[in-house]
Amino acid sequence: MAAIVIDGKAEAAALRAEVAVDVAAFRERHRRVPGLVGIQVGDDPASELYQAGKARAAEEAGMISRRIVLPIETTQAELDAVIDELNADDAIDGMLVQLPVPDQLSEVLIANRIDPLKDVDGFAPVNLGRLVRGEPGSVPCTPAGVMWVLDRAGVPLEGATAVVVGRSLIVGKPMALLLIARSATVTVAHSRTKDLPALCRTADILVAAVGRPEMIRGDWIKPGAAVVDVGINRTDAGLRGDVATAEAAEVAGWITPVPGGVGPMTIAYLLKNTLDAARRRAGDDITTGDE
Ligand code: NDP
Repeated sequence: MAAIVIDGKAEAAALRAEVAVDVAAFRERHRRVPGLVGIQVGDDPASELYQAGKARAAEEAGMISRRIVLPIETTQAELDAVIDELNADDAIDGMLVQLPVPDQLSEVLIANRIDPLKDVDGFAPVNLGRLVRGEPGSVPCTPAGVMWVLDRAGVPLEGATAVVVGRSLIVGKPMALLLIARSATVTVAHSRTKDLPALCRTADILVAAVGRPEMIRGDWIKPGAAVVDVGINRTDAGLRGDVATAEAAEVAGWITPVPGGVGPMTIAYLLKNTLDAARRRAGDDITTGDE
């Protein structure tokens, strides 16, 4: 059986088009457009690329987008001052700090400083707490994008056995919470998990967020499973996911490719989170995520 290959580019385009329509409606209603700011510390080329991509996508969706590039030696106090200014700026609905940041800066302090209403990455303790509690809030973009593609592909979630490989704050943990909220039975695996291949073979839904090229092999996959590959690994042979895609596609029911799978969904969801942040700040009645 050959898996259905989920077209993340097309899915992301669909979500972005939906957001653009809703941005136009927001503009009609509130006489302004949502504003997103990307903050980057230093001039790392990969960060440049990500930030430029996010800014372009925001503009294409009809939003205002700003980029702030700070010198690599920026102190925490200086970054805090920039965040405070944006927190107080009524035209700004969402902000994000491109990670990783230089060693003198703390990701924890940054996540604590950004107004939770403007935290479009969903990393603020308040928003992660809301996710745990099942309350509406900003949900981290990558796992939210995974839920979108699973739903659009019609993958049954309720009662499904899900295995999430990876327990990071930005992918693995929120991914598990979103799947639990949809009544999947979820196991989170990590580097100390014993007999990972056997565990993966139990999964109706397998989400790989590890950062190791093609670690998950075809014979780790349960026949008919939905395999979601979050990994982005630059190798000499090109961009690779965490899953050996060709092998896995022989066995799986659905699979996301790399590139062109989950990657494009992350930016699309950032736009949705920015729009939702603007709606919340404007007092619109909305609920988002899987609460
Ligand atoms: P982290 O490095 O923060 O987390 C990796 C996780 O994988 C950890 O929990 C780690 O376990 C686990 N792990 C590492 N080695 C193994 C192993 N041999 N067996 C089982 N588990 C293992 O990575 P991220 O969550 O930030 O990212 C994961 C991947 O997803 C990366 O390739 C990244 O580039 C990609 N990514 C893609 C995004 C997108 O837009 N598509 C967005 C974000 C990330 P432990 O906790 O024990 O160390």
